[in-house]
Amino acid sequence: MHIDELQPRSVWKRFFDICAIPHPSHREAALADALMRWAAEHGIEAKRDEAGNVAMSRPAVFGMEDHPGVILQAHLDMVPQKAAESGHDFERDPIRPRLDPKNPAWLVADGTTLGADDGIGVAMALALLEDHELRSGRLECLFTVNEEDGMSGARAIEPGFVTGSLLLNLDGEDEAELTIGCAGAVRTIAELSIPATAAPDGLAWFEAAVDGLLGGHSGVDIDKGRANATLALVGILARTRAELRIASISGGTAANAIPREARAIVGVEAARAAEFRAAFQSEATAARIALGDKDPGLAAALASIAVKPAASLAPKDAASMLTMLGALPNGLVAMEPDMPGLVRTSLNLGKAEGAVAPGTDRFRLETLVMIRSSSDDEKEALAATVERRLAGVAEHGWAVEQRRPAVSPAWSPDPGSPLLGKAVAVYRELFGKDPRVTSTHGGLETGLFRPRFPSWDMLSLGPTIRYPHSPDERVEIASVERSYRFARELVSRL
Ligand SMILES: [Zn+2]
Repeated sequence: MHIDELQPRSVWKRFFDICAIPHPSHREAALADALMRWAAEHGIEAKRDEAGNVAMSRPAVFGMEDHPGVILQAHLDMVPQKAAESGHDFERDPIRPRLDPKNPAWLVADGTTLGADDGIGVAMALALLEDHELRSGRLECLFTVNEEDGMSGARAIEPGFVTGSLLLNLDGEDEAELTIGCAGAVRTIAELSIPATAAPDGLAWFEAAVDGLLGGHSGVDIDKGRANATLALVGILARTRAELRIASISGGTAANAIPREARAIVGVEAARAAEFRAAFQSEATAARIALGDKDPGLAAALASIAVKPAASLAPKDAASMLTMLGALPNGLVAMEPDMPGLVRTSLNLGKAEGAVAPGTDRFRLETLVMIRSSSDDEKEALAATVERRLAGVAEHGWAVEQRRPAVSPAWSPDPGSPLLGKAVAVYRELFGKDPRVTSTHGGLETGLFRPRFPSWDMLSLGPTIRYPHSPDERVEIASVERSYRFARELVSRL
């Protein structure tokens, strides 16, 4: 099989056209231009809004004018990731799709993300729009920009840009799943500061480190009982009950990633260094035992360092910081009662960075927490709890500033949705089995549409994609044919 022979031709042809035009997040204009040209050549009505989103439409076929309008929605951008040895330039080079040499049932790219997330959704929508055999009501395509880095395209859709009332989001990643809900999220950032002081002589200094943890995505792995490296380190240090000075602490890299590593520079009275070492080791062992096989690799180490930091937190301030961080809620909070296995509410201390700011005598700690919930009330209540706990250190003399750089609403599942009912029936008829009806603890653009377009009935679907956002991204070729057949049949029945 050659990639020119893949079926359905109409979908793959559009997908390979998309691959030929670089389209990482924030650089979708060239692809949008090409789509506008394509629409003009095919006599399809198309327009663009200020954000760069593209809408296309075709009228209902004769006799179906009174059917509700259907919106086929997908995002134009892709995550640009490449293998360490790849010389790919995402601004200029085309994506090079190929059959996976090890398993030709899958399509991959040559050392980069493939962009099947969500190029294959765009391609499916275009193929449906140009399919003259397809009998349907009014059909629209809605292609959004920048889904992968803040969803600014979806946030900017104005009422009237599309007019349908049934929305099929083609950003799903498993052909056997229909997604009917997603979590909302809040990111909250705190900046805490307090004067640092020069440490007295006679202290022993150490770098304390925790690593070897599994980490993972905070929307996918938060219920797996894995440790947060920052909080593991904080817990171990606090439980040694040593009188510590702290010169720096850092753990984690991003709001939506569970931290795998954390480290801190700590000082303790030299006479008690041996006692501290022993307590640190025994607390590390206890932490490892408590985790069991949920996160078996936890390694905690203390390494002596020769250079004394110029300034650090006094013991009472170090203690108030460790107590505050240790008291933050974290991880899984609640499961969805009606959907087995689905997380309802969780939070992740994604990043904590504390050190004496250069050129000042203040220790500054910045924390980034991401709260997710399919209930906006629970999300709000938990965010408020986190912010209250963080602000609590003000009592101990810390200056506190907090802000929320990003809030997105939840899309609450509606198991009684008529669109879902039809989709399940069509799926059963085509494939002889039930789809998995699910909600995701991650984010989807449909979550942003929900409060602004409350009358839309929405569903998310798509072919099977694995390892999105990584150079191993792959789409299962046969699932594209099935997913397309399913979407086409569903559209014809709405
Ligand atoms: Zn996507």
